[in-house]
Amino acid sequence: MGRIAVLDDNMVNMIAAGEVIERPASVVKELLENSIDAGAGRIVIDVEDGGRRLIRVVDDGGGMAADDLALAFEPHATSKLRTADDLLGIRTMGFRGEALASIGAVAKASVTSRTPDAIGAHRIEIDCGQKGPVVPCAGDTGTTIEVRNLFYKLPARRKFLRTANTEMNHIAEHFTRIALSHESLDLTLTHNNRQAHHLLSGQGLRERIGLLFGPQMADDLLETTRQERGMRLRALLGRPVGARSSGKYQYVFLNRRFIRDRFILHAVKEAYRGLIEPNKYPVVFLFIEMPPEDFDVNVHPTKVEVRFDNPNLVYSEVLALLRDKLLSTNLDVGACLPAPEVFVPSERFGHAESRDRQQRIERAMEDFFKTPQPASTQRSFDFKRSYSAGRSKTPPPHSVSGQTDSFGQSGSALQEDWKPRTYLQVDNSYLVVPDADGFMVIDQHALHERILYEQMCVRLREGRLPSQRLLMPHPFEATPAQADALEKHRDLIEKIGVEIEMFGPNTLAVQAFPMLLERVEPTAFVVELLDKLVEDEGHSNEERLLHEILDMAACKAAVKAGQPLSEAEIAHLLANKDVVQRTSRCPHGRPTTLVFSRKDLDKQFKRTGF
Ligand code: ADP
Ligand code: MG
Repeated sequence: MGRIAVLDDNMVNMIAAGEVIERPASVVKELLENSIDAGAGRIVIDVEDGGRRLIRVVDDGGGMAADDLALAFEPHATSKLRTADDLLGIRTMGFRGEALASIGAVAKASVTSRTPDAIGAHRIEIDCGQKGPVVPCAGDTGTTIEVRNLFYKLPARRKFLRTANTEMNHIAEHFTRIALSHESLDLTLTHNNRQAHHLLSGQGLRERIGLLFGPQMADDLLETTRQERGMRLRALLGRPVGARSSGKYQYVFLNRRFIRDRFILHAVKEAYRGLIEPNKYPVVFLFIEMPPEDFDVNVHPTKVEVRFDNPNLVYSEVLALLRDKLLSTNLDVGACLPAPEVFVPSERFGHAESRDRQQRIERAMEDFFKTPQPASTQRSFDFKRSYSAGRSKTPPPHSVSGQTDSFGQSGSALQEDWKPRTYLQVDNSYLVVPDADGFMVIDQHALHERILYEQMCVRLREGRLPSQRLLMPHPFEATPAQADALEKHRDLIEKIGVEIEMFGPNTLAVQAFPMLLERVEPTAFVVELLDKLVEDEGHSNEERLLHEILDMAACKAAVKAGQPLSEAEIAHLLANKDVVQRTSRCPHGRPTTLVFSRKDLDKQFKRTGF
């Protein structure tokens, strides 16, 4: 092999750029952080073609003097660190001195800057590492950085960039993170000369969240703070009914820096345990402040990960903050999100909840079998009547038993009320039904879900799901990512019978909705659907995505466990059960039906051999 050579600076920068500058959004993030470090109060970001053609960031911060400008594109040039000790208490967003050097190595860039006491501005240009001279020019106090034709000399990198819309979504995400953690900044973002956001300084956090994510989400957040053991915490929390199918709406900031920390997110999840399905993600905006000496941000090139000196303390403080708030709030009242639709099959509950449920079912079963049977049916138990145990309106078995004791007198009157049925509904969740050779226990939700799923598959084979125009469009606030997903997957969305149109800036509206999903609230469903498509980002093939959506739709449209059913509904379920019995699994892989044959019963009662 050849000899070892020391790489020249430009090569070093290009390699560093690979770590720091992944896509246009990384440029925006680094430039925004620099403007914040320079003490800016107002920042304007202009983007063209998703950042491929141009990214321009203009700030009114402290600027750079001419001699500093000459150094700005040098690797490891920073004004924010001097000694190794400084690394122990970072108070600025940047400190590595890598960003401008990296950007200058992979694009055509210019910096124009002026300090408050200078008589004019200065400007320097760089073109993929080729630096020009510092020249005087006109300009206001502050700094303007322009980055053009990112990666234009690196076709392999440029090829990796996605559509302008997708790149813009990534940029908007970084913009959002900065906006949420810097309430006092006046921030503007434009794309192709159209304004995407303008956030005024002095807006409250809730108002900002409303502008960025829609007023529905903002109005419904619970707010809480805590100051304990050297940490200051503030959180705005979504109610459990508003939990999402992805972690996209979980924002954690440490000293105003957006971080991803699995441990903290676990604490969040833990706080919501038992309140939401385990595969859902609560909406949360969490702000942590602590002395910079108590953690290390120098562990990741983009500083999105940090290392806490005492992670357990952080975990327990976050958990305490959230849990106290959730426990002290009546979560059923005041929710302005669509009607709660939390369906939670027992095994998806937290432990405490499922134990409670289990006990209720056991009690219901016990009560049922304790009930004295009228003389005629005492010998062979024959399902000729059903008792809905638990909280249903049907009289509970023991109150019936007092009257059946005087069988003969009041018995006949009672018979009329009873409307004999050939099944038993347990705890409004399970149906017990006799069959030729024993009986079966049906999970009403799982069976209904399965029936709907099959029905949708059948209809889809014939074309698209039949849909119904809504009397009035149902508008909802949409993020650019959601609008993007709509464009990209329009065929798929129309196939399942959903029609969505633009309704205004940042607003979409559901116009038509599948008939089979009549129980489902259209906007909540559509928002979740779009989130799912955003999250997927082209990883699954269309067919698989379609079936995942059918899954989700069936689960939402199906009757819930614990939901009282009318006789007609039960009859409908039982009539359709054979359709799906070939495969007695609900789409989530849970069984829909347990079968107890005479033989099984004999075996359980140790009668085998008799
Ligand atoms: P870092 O932010 O880690 O110091 P950068 O490469 O991002 O490294 O920036 C290098 C230096 O350029 C900064 O330390 C700062 O002194 C100067 N600088 C960059 N952007 C600005 C700006 N918008 N306003 C004033 N100074 C800036
Ligand atoms: Mg920087």
